[in-house]
Amino acid sequence: METPAKAPVKSKPPGFATTCIHAGQEPEPVTGAVTVPIFQTSTFVQEGFGKPRQGYEYARTKNPTRLALEKQLAALEGGADGSATAHAFASGMAAETTLMLSFVKAGDHVLVSRNTYGGTYRFFSKILANFGVTFAYVDTTDARTVRKAVTPATRMLFVETPTNPTMEISDLKALAGVALSEGKRIGARIRVVVDNTFATPYFQKPLALGCDAVVHSTTKYLNGHSDSVGGAVICADPEDGAKIGFTQNAAGAILSPFDSFLVSRGIKTLPVRMRAHDANGRAVAAWLTRQPKVKKVFYPGLSSHPGHAVAARQMSGFGGMISFDLGLIEAVKRFLNRVVVCALGESLGGVESLISHPASMTHASVEPEERLRRGITPGLVRVSVGIEDLEDILQDLENALDAV
Ligand SMILES: *Cc1c(COP(=O)(O)O)cnc(C)c1O
Repeated sequence: METPAKAPVKSKPPGFATTCIHAGQEPEPVTGAVTVPIFQTSTFVQEGFGKPRQGYEYARTKNPTRLALEKQLAALEGGADGSATAHAFASGMAAETTLMLSFVKAGDHVLVSRNTYGGTYRFFSKILANFGVTFAYVDTTDARTVRKAVTPATRMLFVETPTNPTMEISDLKALAGVALSEGKRIGARIRVVVDNTFATPYFQKPLALGCDAVVHSTTKYLNGHSDSVGGAVICADPEDGAKIGFTQNAAGAILSPFDSFLVSRGIKTLPVRMRAHDANGRAVAAWLTRQPKVKKVFYPGLSSHPGHAVAARQMSGFGGMISFDLGLIEAVKRFLNRVVVCALGESLGGVESLISHPASMTHASVEPEERLRRGITPGLVRVSVGIEDLEDILQDLENALDAV
């Protein structure tokens, strides 16, 4: 007797939540373990002379737990066509190091969002600048400014959107267009790289908007639980991906099997977490605008925000990152010493609300004048709104404001 045919398989690509849970996460073939195991091994025994098993030889080069995460990341950022590649690193900065070692060399010029993450600015200006790469920090919220800043040596545009901490928004589609046309004019390829740490692929997909590569600090929303430090590079062009893979193996800043497991596990709940961050973020931002002691609120979801229109078009949500100005540093001290639900600390993107003072914490490595130029005033407070009960977050902020 013939076995009954299974229902016809439909070929519609899976949705984002399904991709988060299943991409790269096939059951383990030997035992059927539904979760990819932590392959805590440095090497792999070979089947015979010159016969490695399925390409696994040494775990810096390739590890099954890390590979599972890399497939998952590629699917999230690159969509369903399967040509994007991802590589996972020991930190967001390790990802950026590998990216720059792969794509720029002495003599090259790089345009960077002027309000980029402090650690990115430090790495570019204090380290890579010593190797003959030049950087210009420009206002990437204005595509014309970027076009004017291109020189014959420009080979990369490094964009962060939303930026940290003033939430400036850059139009990625417009910038990809500028890089393409200016690249033609100077006869060189200008890669557009986007730090997508704040938005995550749940809200923003730079590769679909024509950008070449995405970098992440997976430490933040992708892992989402403040219990791992990691990073990733995802490339649209497979040849670029091969370059990143070559540098990853040669320079060695890989993500460990245990951390790969944690990030894969975090990503499985990314959509539900991001929806909750976004709902709380919108409510906290709206509440802050009504507080007389708050001088200014920076949140792309507010219609008063200069980047609101572009954010509404290019992102499917605004997330949970908010900055606000309390005026004087004394006010900030009183406020931050009073919060209880919001933990005072660096970092962001975890399930718990985290609050910080950019001028003395995340952006302490940026020179004072440069800090002010970027709108990082002494009174600025940044909050990564977590997914606790909204009433508890608001009560905490209200109590702390009473101390101001
Ligand atoms: C944290 C962060 C980084 C650096 O990542 P690490 O994992 O801390 O090395 C880079 N970009 C942004 C936007 C970040 O928030």
